[in-house]
Amino acid sequence: MTVTAREFHLASRPAALPGPETFCLVERELPDPGPGQLLVRNELLSVDPYMRGRMNDAKSYVPPFQVGEPLEGGAVGTVVASGDDAVPVGTNVLHMAGWRDHALIGRKEATVVDTSLASAGAYLGALGVPGLTAWGGLLFAAEFKPGDTVFVSGAAGAVGSLAGQIAKLKGAARVVGSAGGPQKADLLTSRFGFDAAIDYRAGDVRGQLEAAAPDGIDVYFDNVGGEHLEAAIARANRYARLALCGAISGYNAAEPQSAPRNLSLAIGKRLTLRGFIVMDYFPHNAAFVAEMAPWFADGRIVALETVVDGLENTPSAFLSLFSGGNTGKMLVRV
Ligand code: NDP
Repeated sequence: MTVTAREFHLASRPAALPGPETFCLVERELPDPGPGQLLVRNELLSVDPYMRGRMNDAKSYVPPFQVGEPLEGGAVGTVVASGDDAVPVGTNVLHMAGWRDHALIGRKEATVVDTSLASAGAYLGALGVPGLTAWGGLLFAAEFKPGDTVFVSGAAGAVGSLAGQIAKLKGAARVVGSAGGPQKADLLTSRFGFDAAIDYRAGDVRGQLEAAAPDGIDVYFDNVGGEHLEAAIARANRYARLALCGAISGYNAAEPQSAPRNLSLAIGKRLTLRGFIVMDYFPHNAAFVAEMAPWFADGRIVALETVVDGLENTPSAFLSLFSGGNTGKMLVRV
């Protein structure tokens, strides 16, 4: 069964915000799977902010994408031809050969998922990497304790919306979130159960945080960096813990950002700022799923998705992450 796959390649490295010239859609004939290989028809693709970093030619915790080579990312699909009797045709698998409609992958690169237990989107969202990032970042990097007041930026997105809800479920005294625009800010309190919300696009993040957290914050879950991090340092209580998950406000910046300009406050306040990568928590994945799956199943965790239709729209779905085009997890239905 030969298949003509359509896959996005990195056409050129972006200097700032990527554009159409960054991507090219390429057709490729895929052969039958050999022993131990699977031919997968992708149904749902994940696009994520970290992919922007992989477009730079820079050493990081994951190797950069290569110009002229396929882009990669999380995907859920169905096996349509199999070189492994243990993974027959029709099996649903989670894997990293996204940005394409068909993929030929090794059996060891695939995780079998049961889409009758949870949706394909859940495996890319609340029960997958964004969920583990939120859970691990809050519990390990931020050393969350019941009674903490927690501030989460990027709070209407995949990771942030989960981080805030997990904090509430685990006994936070108060959870404050920041998101772009009045509708998203409203969603934080009306759907995700945050106690207070900031619309950072209205300006004065520091002043708004002061009003929303009058007794200061004990934990900051940072998805945004820059001015948000500066505001959190200003508002942090003594011994507060700041988990540095992402810094999306700077991902497309051509020049290094100036904020936070108040890092020296960390000394007198005895702050802990700890960066982390979700891979640090892979060994805890079973404990994460054991806690998250019941929350997700009975609706204590609300996991929203923004789904864009059509493989050809994968670049625009990815780019809209940088202008707030998503609420919850951004996905592409192939
Ligand atoms: P999101 O679903 O949160 O999507 C990105 C969101 O970022 C957008 O919806 C937008 O929301 C917000 N945003 C974009 N530009 C800016 C800006 N200039 N200032 C403030 N907010 C902005 O993505 P994820 O949940 O997947 O990722 C969230 C963060 O976590 C990212 O920084 C990502 O890199 C990081 N991450 C880190 C991991 C790790 O292992 N350390 C693992 C996974 C993610 P809005 O409309 O509110 O502006």
